[in-house]
Amino acid sequence: MESKIGIMGGTFNPIHLGHLILAEEARNNLNLDKVIFIPTGTPPHKKRTSVLNPLYRYEMAVLATADNPYFQVSPIEINKEGISYTIDTIKYLKKIYTNSTLYFITGADSLVDICSWKNASELLRLCKFATAKRREISNDKLESTVNEINQTYGESVYLLSTPYIEISSTDIRNRVKSGKSIKYYVSNNVESYIVKNNIYK
Ligand code: NAP
Repeated sequence: MESKIGIMGGTFNPIHLGHLILAEEARNNLNLDKVIFIPTGTPPHKKRTSVLNPLYRYEMAVLATADNPYFQVSPIEINKEGISYTIDTIKYLKKIYTNSTLYFITGADSLVDICSWKNASELLRLCKFATAKRREISNDKLESTVNEINQTYGESVYLLSTPYIEISSTDIRNRVKSGKSIKYYVSNNVESYIVKNNIYK
């Protein structure tokens, strides 16, 4: 039987409750069999020096997802040399999950930018997108992007009915730096991991 797999790619610097809620909502909305979290190795869209060591980001993703039996974390991008492009990851996963539909889970910011991604048309043919609305992207802009993509590539994009959770990784890093609490922004075990490893100070 064909399965449905969610792919939650992210820098996860650090992984926070917004990411977890988004993945769980995608699983519920689309009846996904599982969601694989894939922390980026060297992301294409961020300065190499500004991103925390991938091993820390991977371990935080493992901790944050440990209590959800439908969630997995894959090290495929962090184990890869060079820049991690989503197209390469999706092609690799298509070879493993030959009888599955893959849904790449994103925020609306990423979706409206998709044309700038490497081999965007091929990517949109290989997988579907499950997208959460974000406040900073207007409904008009999002709808026109979704319509354009769906007209060209078939029904590729699903808009998720998720609540707006305006937590951001940048804000979390700034809070840690200035000594503010991040309780309830990240899971308890991720909060302890950040303190124990003295990250983001
Ligand atoms: P991120 O900041 O760690 O976030 C992961 C995803 O969660 C993003 O889609 C983000 O959407 C969303 N998100 C974050 N906070 C959220 C919240 N509070 N509520 C709802 N959604 C939230 O990851 P990222 O750095 O944007 O990267 C996302 C993925 O896109 C990665 O796998 C990366 O490799 C891929 N990417 C690929 C290319 C390429 O292949 N050329 C280029 C760029 C990105 P927002 O972006 O809306 O915050």
